[in-house]
Formats: sequence, structure tokens, C-alpha cells
Amino acid sequence: MYDFLIVGCGFAGAVLAERLADAGKRVLLVDKRDHIAGNAYDYYNKDGILIHKYGPHIFHTNSEEVFKYLSLFTEWRPYEHRVLGSVDGQLVPIPINLTTINKLYGRSLTSDEVKDFLASKAEERRPVLTSEDVVLNAVGKELYEKFFRGYTRKQWDLDPSELDASVTARVPTRTNSDDRYFTDTYQAMPTNGYTEMFKKMLTHKSIHVMLNTDYRDITEIIPHKKLIYTGPVDAFFDYRFGKLPYRSINFRFETLDRENYQPTGTVNYPTSNLYTRITEFKHLTGQTHHKTAIVYEYPTAEGDPYYPIPRKENQEVYNQYRKLAEEEKDVYFTGRLGTYKYYNMDQVVAQSLALFRKIIKEDLDGLQQ
Ligand code: FAD
Ligand code: UDP
Repeated sequence: MYDFLIVGCGFAGAVLAERLADAGKRVLLVDKRDHIAGNAYDYYNKDGILIHKYGPHIFHTNSEEVFKYLSLFTEWRPYEHRVLGSVDGQLVPIPINLTTINKLYGRSLTSDEVKDFLASKAEERRPVLTSEDVVLNAVGKELYEKFFRGYTRKQWDLDPSELDASVTARVPTRTNSDDRYFTDTYQAMPTNGYTEMFKKMLTHKSIHVMLNTDYRDITEIIPHKKLIYTGPVDAFFDYRFGKLPYRSINFRFETLDRENYQPTGTVNYPTSNLYTRITEFKHLTGQTHHKTAIVYEYPTAEGDPYYPIPRKENQEVYNQYRKLAEEEKDVYFTGRLGTYKYYNMDQVVAQSLALFRKIIKEDLDGLQQ
């Protein structure tokens, strides 16, 4: 008899498996894929280059708790991600910053001057409700068209005006020349990769891992007291309220017979091409190799559910599922798919650590009754 059957071996499931095993629970962790680490899975391709199977994963967090926790299972390689955008025939920093403006407009403005420049371009939108509002408010129509509109339409097949503000708000606007993609306190990559980190998380003798297994095929057969589900919440309830929309991506990998391909980890293509961005893995991993590997991302509606789509009508459907989820006895939902939230890895870890604390508290309360 297992104490917990955990569905999904990504960050959400693996963190809970590790914590619960450490707290003395017996855990069965299943994934329908043939590997651990969920969407963070990385592996060496046939040329021996470390690549991310589900697209570039860059770790960053402001949470000391999350960073300390993951540090139990990995060493880190400091890495600050940088992104350039291919715009008007030039490569310019994204997020838009002082250098971006000066390069695009052939100016040599100072920080203060660029503030005024952007203020003169900005179109005030109040209240800020959509992803279009966010950008127009900050930089106005011209830069919105150059950097956001086309990219967003490719990525989501929606106009920014049809998406929650939270989506483009992920990318700030800067008036200094900080060209880092993230400004979090902790920015680093697991030295030996994500999969190795997951392997260490799952070494406890009370964790059994079953791959190539859909939990539906075993849930009736293998006795367990409680279930933790990190797959798509709508699938759990047989799409009772209809399918929740997710965005997927087709990844096209290439290994090139040259040492380097592009100047930064990622180059975005906001207005050209069918792909949104190209990432060169060696920037992220720090690997030295005489060849290099890149990935193109082509967004699509079909395929694995990667991105919940943040907009009101989807949130309303999700709220119906969430209600059902809350009524389930001895079943917990967590993770990007389990709670239909556009979460980064660190947010998923934080969410699962919080769920762990809740479960343990319930356990103690149960014992005291
Ligand atoms: P997942 O990793 O998706 O794990 C869920 C697991 O459940 C899957 O392995 C799936 O096979 C399994 N499962 C589903 N249904 C079943 C079933 N019926 N039976 C058994 N198993 C099942 N975050 C960052 O912080 N930085 C980044 O740079 C970053 N880049 C990203 C790039 C892309 C292209 C994508 C798609 C995401 C990116 N993320 C990034 C987000 C990151 O991938 C997620 O936050 C994180 O992986 C979510 O972990 P999870 O455990 O919730 O879900
Ligand atoms: N975005 C954009 N242009 C860019 C970069 C981002 O329009 O050059 C918008 C787009 O809608 C994207 C969102 O901002 O989906 C969030 O970008 P982020 O890089 O955080 O996306 P992720 O890495 O999660 O795919």
C-alpha cells in the first residue's frame, strides 16, 4: 500500500515525491513519458551536446527557499540569460532598454532622455486589462508592433488585446542598459543538467518511479491512500466542462558543424519567420564542444499541452474544474497543468512545497483527532 500515488514526474510531482518520502511516506511516482523531469528534461543528443527536449529552460528565482531547496540536489553554474530581437534588420536587446532604443533610432540618448522618449510614444491605457494595454502604456504603438504584436500572434494565435495583461507583463521595459532577460536574485543552471538533478531528488528508497505509465491504467490496481495529480486538470475530469485550451510548440533541433551560432542564448523573431525564437544551448549549459545545437520554436494548437492560455474565458472554465478539484477527497492538484497557471519552474516548486506543508498539517490534524 502506497501512501501517495503521484501523477507526473516534472517539478510539481518530483518535489512532492521527495518531500513526502523524506517525511516517511511511501510514494509511487508515475509518468506516461519514458523519462523523468517533465518538461525540464534534458539529455545529450547523438553528437554529445546537452539539449532540452521541450525547449530552453532557464532557471531564475527570487525565492531563497526554492533555491536552497533545489541546491540539495545540484550544484549550479551561474548564468544570466540574454535575448536579442531581430528587428528592422538589426539585433537589439529584449527587453527593450536604452541600447535597444538608441540602436533602432540611431540616437545616443541618456537614461533620462529615453524615459522622455518613451513617455512621448506611450499611449495611456487605463485600466490595464490586456497584453496590448501593457505594452501600449509602456512604449506606444510603434514599438508594440515591432516587438510584441507579431510575436504574440505567433505564440498564442491571439492578438495581445485578447490575452490577459500578465502575459506581456512578463517582459518589462527598461530605461537603463541592463540587457539581462531576468533580474531575479538567483539565476543559474544546474551544473549537470535538470535530469541529473531530478535523479538525485528521486533516489529515496521510499520513492518508486514507474515510467511509460498512464495513471489511469494502474490507479484501480495499485492500492494507495492519496493521489497527487500534476497532469492537465481538464483531462482528469474527462473534459466535463469542455477542453481547456493549451498552446503547444513544435521544436526543430539542429546540430551545426561550427562552434557557435548566435551571440546570445536566444534570438527572438518578433516580425519575421514562422518560428518565434532560436536558442543555442551551449550558451545556457556552458558546454564546450566543436559543434553547436540550436532549437527553433514553432507554436501550434495541436500537441502536448505546454502553455495554459491566460484569458478570462479560459479562467472561467478552469474555475469550474477547480471547484470539482476542491471537492475531490484525498486528491490534490498542483503544477502548471494541474492548476492551469502559466508558471515558471520556480513557481511550481514553491507551489509544491506549499502543498507539502498543507498535506503534512492535515496529517498531523488527523492524528490529533
Ligand atoms: P510538467 O513538467 O509538464 O510535468 C507534468 C508531467 O505529467 C508530464 O511529464 C506528463 O507526461 C505527466 N502526465 C500528464 N498526464 C499524465 C497521465 N495521465 N499519467 C501519467 N503522467 C501524466 N520555466 C522556467 O522557469 N524557465 C524557463 O526558461 C522556461 N522555459 C519554458 C519553455 C517552454 C517551451 C515551456 C513549454 C515551458 C517553459 N518553462 C520555463 C515552464 C516549465 O516548463 C514549467 O514551469 C514546469 O516544467 C512545470 O512543471 P510541472 O511539473 O507542473 O509540469
Ligand atoms: N513577447 C513578445 N515579444 C518578445 C518576447 C515576448 O511579444 O520578443 C510576449 C509574448 O506574448 C510572449 C510573452 O511576451 O508569449 C512572454 O514571453 P516569455 O519570453 O516570458 O515567454 P516564454 O519563455 O514563457 O515562452
